[in-house]
Amino acid sequence: MEGVKITCKDAHRLVSEGLDRELSLLERTRLRLHLLACGACSRFNGQMDLLRQAMRRLPPE
Ligand SMILES: [Zn+2]
Repeated sequence: MEGVKITCKDAHRLVSEGLDRELSLLERTRLRLHLLACGACSRFNGQMDLLRQAMRRLPPE
C-alpha cells in the first residue's frame, strides 16, 4: 500500500483486522479516507462496528 489511497480490498482487510488489533494511525487515516469516498465499504464498516460492539458484550472466555 503506497500513499493514502487504498482499494476496497485493502479497506475490507483493514476493517477485519481492526476487529483483532488496534490499527496504526496511518492505517486508520487510510481507512477513514476510503470510507468517506466509498459507500459500499462504509456500510461494511458499519456492520463490523455492530459486530464489534456485540463481541464486546460477550463475557470473557
Ligand atoms: Zn471501498
